[in-house]
Amino acid sequence: MASAARYLKAAQSIYIACHVMPDGDAVGSLVALGLTMQRLGKSCTTACADPVPAKYRFLAGVRDVVSRPPAAEEILVTVDVNAIDRLGSLYDEAIFHSRPVINVDHHVTNTLFGTVNLVQPLPSSAEIVYALLRHLKAPPDKDVAAALLTGLLTDTRCFRTGNVTARQLRTAVALTDAGISLAELTELLFNREPASTICLWGQALASAETQGRVIWTEIDREMMRRCRASASDADGLVSLLASTMGVDAALVLREKDDGRIEVSMRAGPGWDISGVAMQLGGGGHPRAAGCTVAGTMAAARERVLSAVENALREQGAVSSQQTAGSP
Ligand code: AMP
Ligand code: MN
Ligand code: MN
Repeated sequence: MASAARYLKAAQSIYIACHVMPDGDAVGSLVALGLTMQRLGKSCTTACADPVPAKYRFLAGVRDVVSRPPAAEEILVTVDVNAIDRLGSLYDEAIFHSRPVINVDHHVTNTLFGTVNLVQPLPSSAEIVYALLRHLKAPPDKDVAAALLTGLLTDTRCFRTGNVTARQLRTAVALTDAGISLAELTELLFNREPASTICLWGQALASAETQGRVIWTEIDREMMRRCRASASDADGLVSLLASTMGVDAALVLREKDDGRIEVSMRAGPGWDISGVAMQLGGGGHPRAAGCTVAGTMAAARERVLSAVENALREQGAVSSQQTAGSP
């Protein structure tokens, strides 16, 4: 924390980037840090390879987010990025090797690619940014608090994920004390789904299948086209599937524009599917992870389902052995 703060204090120009296909935590962490650095008188660029989804465009600072790689900025900061390839087209090897990189993230699968790695297993990256701002004695103003609370609320699905403790509730109280209306924010984030989202979820739910204790659904390009959907319309669907009674893991397989299959995975309490995601070239958290695989939908389904089933079988065997062996 102290080392990351030192770099930020010393730099006059800063480039901050979040991951491709940004979610609320990526966007919130990005603009919160960007707005604060600007307030401290620094020249600051905020960047994302993909456009910010419409539902987050109410946040201050989003309009200034660019999609270009770093240029002359003195230091580079990544937020909510577990591996450098998650920067997509923003990653430029020569530039990233020639400047200090501050890696601010909360994924257990973080590859510690930074010069400084501010990586803590908290429920959201926004909380780490919040701690960093407090360390810098630059407490959030109303706009920054709204961005940070957006990250916390979206990554915990409104405090519903299994990793939420009193600490997250305290952080939320402190952030609302900056003048945010929790009711207004949750309305904007959770109660205004675009029609394209409802269309896509309807089709995807209607064709969901289960095999053993795994539930999954598949979204192809034709479904995306019929619903005029974009990638962010599928966000959250996998969590709904994972809430099915009697299920240990849920998957959404979605065909991207380039034909590769994006896989979102969720697991119930006590399971860890981050290893499966990593093994398939992705990453994430124990109970929420993802990857992108090449090949047809059918091939991806076979590969991913068998990897998940194997992981559940192995972890189930270990936990029943531990139960049998414990007094
Ligand atoms: P999602 O299912 O897209 O909400 O992602 C769940 C978690 O897995 C998030 O924390 C992501 O950062 C991570 N994740 C998703 N896709 C990938 C990927 N292709 N590579 C690495 N991590 C991923
Ligand atoms: Mn994220
Ligand atoms: Mn996150």
